[in-house]
Amino acid sequence: MKGFDTNLRLQASSLSPEFSNGFLPKRQGSVNNLKLRNCHSRSFSPTMLKLFSSTGSRAHHLTPAIRVGSRSVDSPLFKALSQLTGLNRRSTSLGHRAFFCSEPTDAASDSEAAAEAEAKAAESDSDGSDSKSSSAIVPTNPRPEDCLTVLALPVPHRPLFPGFYMPIYVKDPKVLAALQESRRRQAPYAGAFLLKDDPAADSSSSTDIEKNINELKGQNLLDRLHEVGTLAQISSIQGDQVILVGHRRLRITEMVSEEPLTVKVDHIKDKPFDMDDDVIKATSFEVISTLRDVLKTSSLWRDHVQTYTQHIGDFTYPRLADFGAAICGANRHQAQEVLEELDIHKRLRLTLELMKKEMEISKIQETIAKAIEEKISGEQRRYLLNEQLKAIKKELGVETDDKSALSAKFKERIEPNKEKIPPHVLQVIEEELTKLQLLEASSSEFNVTRNYLDWLTILPWGNYSDENFDVVRAQQILDEDHFGLSDVKERILEFIAVGRLRGTSQGKIICLSGPPGVGKTSIGRSIARALNRKFFRFSVGGLADVAEIKGHRRTYVGAMPGKMVQCLKNVGTANPLVLIDEIDKLGRGHAGDPASALLELLDPEQNANFLDHYLDVTIDLSKVLFVCTANVIDMIPNPLLDRMEVISIAGYITDEKVHIARDYLEKTARGDCGIKPEQVDVSDAALLSLIENYCREAGVRNLQKQIEKIYRKIALKLVREGVVPEEPAVASDPEEAEIVTKLDVESPENHVDEPKEETQTEKIAVEKVMIDESNLSDYVGKPVFHAEKIYEPTPVGVVMGLAWTSMGGSTLYIETTVVEEGEGKGGLNITGQLGDVMKESAQIAHTVARKIMLEKEPENQFFANSKLHLHVPAGATPKDGPSAGCTMITSLLSLAMKKPVKEDLAMTGEVTLTGRILPIGGVKEKTIAARRSQVKTIIFPEANRRDFEELAENVKEGLDVHFVDDYGKIFELAFGYDKQQD
Ligand code: ADP
Repeated sequence: MKGFDTNLRLQASSLSPEFSNGFLPKRQGSVNNLKLRNCHSRSFSPTMLKLFSSTGSRAHHLTPAIRVGSRSVDSPLFKALSQLTGLNRRSTSLGHRAFFCSEPTDAASDSEAAAEAEAKAAESDSDGSDSKSSSAIVPTNPRPEDCLTVLALPVPHRPLFPGFYMPIYVKDPKVLAALQESRRRQAPYAGAFLLKDDPAADSSSSTDIEKNINELKGQNLLDRLHEVGTLAQISSIQGDQVILVGHRRLRITEMVSEEPLTVKVDHIKDKPFDMDDDVIKATSFEVISTLRDVLKTSSLWRDHVQTYTQHIGDFTYPRLADFGAAICGANRHQAQEVLEELDIHKRLRLTLELMKKEMEISKIQETIAKAIEEKISGEQRRYLLNEQLKAIKKELGVETDDKSALSAKFKERIEPNKEKIPPHVLQVIEEELTKLQLLEASSSEFNVTRNYLDWLTILPWGNYSDENFDVVRAQQILDEDHFGLSDVKERILEFIAVGRLRGTSQGKIICLSGPPGVGKTSIGRSIARALNRKFFRFSVGGLADVAEIKGHRRTYVGAMPGKMVQCLKNVGTANPLVLIDEIDKLGRGHAGDPASALLELLDPEQNANFLDHYLDVTIDLSKVLFVCTANVIDMIPNPLLDRMEVISIAGYITDEKVHIARDYLEKTARGDCGIKPEQVDVSDAALLSLIENYCREAGVRNLQKQIEKIYRKIALKLVREGVVPEEPAVASDPEEAEIVTKLDVESPENHVDEPKEETQTEKIAVEKVMIDESNLSDYVGKPVFHAEKIYEPTPVGVVMGLAWTSMGGSTLYIETTVVEEGEGKGGLNITGQLGDVMKESAQIAHTVARKIMLEKEPENQFFANSKLHLHVPAGATPKDGPSAGCTMITSLLSLAMKKPVKEDLAMTGEVTLTGRILPIGGVKEKTIAARRSQVKTIIFPEANRRDFEELAENVKEGLDVHFVDDYGKIFELAFGYDKQQD
């Protein structure tokens, strides 16, 4: 199947592939562009077909060939041919005799008769001139069968089959001249013989073969020619191109002359065969059906050969065999074999083989075509779907911007403050922008890059809010928001003052510590307001994941930057005030320590180059002001605490709470409930009772809740009574005291005359809702706190101590009693949910008390012989700490001496084994708690004197406070009263 290739076929498809072997019929057309150079490279070259499609004289040229050696007038092939070529516009009889010129023997008589008739017709034609013969009718003399000596023309690629056309190129001028001469002599015949392969050359490319032909001469040429060839009519000569029409089979017998090669030939005829032979019939049917199949599968041949297939059954067997062999893509050797085969059955078989091969090739071609088509259509489909998807997304607003729009957006973002962006960040942004362009929009990495760029470009690089260093204004703002807290406020003012002198403010860490509800968070907010900084709060309570602070690496799905970067994005400035809440409740991370991450964030030494894992570029947090809040300082990791400036807010005493309630909480609650000041009157006694009996804790959050509760109830009451404001209440407008009511007609004294009374509506000033101690419980329920004092006065063995909790200070009793007495029974039982430290201090107290007893009353064997029990109520509350040491000793001694301690006495202080008193914490809270329990005398360790003296006057007021460094003094204070009395 050499030389058969799909491409060539594809080219030919625009023409008529079935004729591509030079088969005569051709559609009528007007292709004037005669590119004949290539046509010999392949026997079924399309250009050859073009030649035949050309109109005018060319068509006439062909006609003689058609007429020579004609046969049956009703050859179906001819009918079809004439349809296609338009030859039927000439006389049908002319056309009828046109096609297969090489006739089998059995048809010879027919053809001869026809030829004679034709000859007569030609003779009757008056004009026999050259011009006429060349353009219209070639005289039938000499007849082809008379040609016994012919020019031998080598054909390079395929043998010429009877009935088919073939163009050849004759380079040899002598041969060309001889051909022209023979045409002139009106014997336009030559022998076309297929060239054998060159035994010397291994290459058989078409150009090589062509070259060989031109070089071969005489005997050499003869040796290279197949013996069996075809008598060919010289149809036309155009330059060096000669068009041959095959007629009948020839066999070279001998050489006549060398230049040009002229040979003697025998006209060989097919072997006689039986037309009714079943095998021949069957074979020919198979050829036909195969031909049909090929035509069916091969889209190239289909359309054009249809006409022939309709009539294929009418072919004679030899012709059918020639037709099949000529049109299929068999190689030259196989084709030559068919040509040489004179046994019709064998010839049909050979043709059938070729056809079957052809069919296989057709099938392969089809699958190849299908596969390629599928691939192309698959790709096209994909493209189309993608385009549709894009359009849909755009429509839905899911993806409004493509890559370039995205980069434009990012560039636009950074453009205004490009100079402020640090160079290393700018570089990363540029790199990412380039990367974005290279990535497939649907890939996951594209999204990662897009999000990353989004974060990088949205951060407020170098964008600072103008700070306000006005100390007076700041003081005003702080006072507006909070009562008291003078030390906190003072510290803030210092900070502002430094900022003013330096011109810039520096990031610092302030830690506000204190019980809940004392205003730590809200003062943070006020500081931000005073400094004109943006405020951002995040709570680190229970935070265990370092990534919350440092961000995730971008490789994780759903990676996010840390809180600090989120904060900068949120606030839009690089110098916000960041409130880190509950820093003492920081969790312990299983992977990484959040405290260390916070340290990196907060430490002024490190945070100028804070590295967030997601952002992957350092950011400068040195201008950020950090404020942390904590309930208990001890719980803050030490390295963090080290870098903080702790300001503790101890909690408020009743007095302060009253102020806060009156000046801040009530106002906000009233405003929130839409109640005017004139409508309500909460008496001082009620407020005091509320604070004393409902809200004893250190902070004011609960107080705030209770006040809100009161005001909500008042609002409901007012609405229930039908008091509807004339227009939506505008708080604190005194003119709006008039309330419209339809009900209150019984208070004529309140009646205000309206000039025009169109309705029954009357405006009256409703009586104020009064809240007093007596009706307070209607609003806030029964008091939750009962007096902390459970003894009045304290019995023997009971002493009041002072404790500190994260909720503030409180008083507690230490009770001791004797379990049993007896020689050597001395011992101590301890209960009351005490921690290890407190248990130890009870043991110490026992020892110290025994020692003191020994000194004071050497004969007293109480401790040696008594089994004692020490208890600290309330039993459900866990307690710990060493500060109850002195209280325990006093309690034990009181029991030993059977003498109660002085009335309204409370004490606190750690005791050593030798009886020295060590300092304690929470002086303010403890003092406040003592006042609440109506304690009059307090004993503090000497070392805490300064703490106490720093307390506000109103806290210290009216208290008898003693500072001691040795237990002896406490003994004096607690039991000395007796002596005086005595
Ligand atoms: P914390 O953070 O210490 O738990 P908050 O800051 O949340 O407490 O304060 C609770 C409420 O108490 C806030 O509404 C706050 O305004 C109010 N508050 C606390 N202290 C004061 C104060 N000194 N003056 C006015 N209001 C206060």
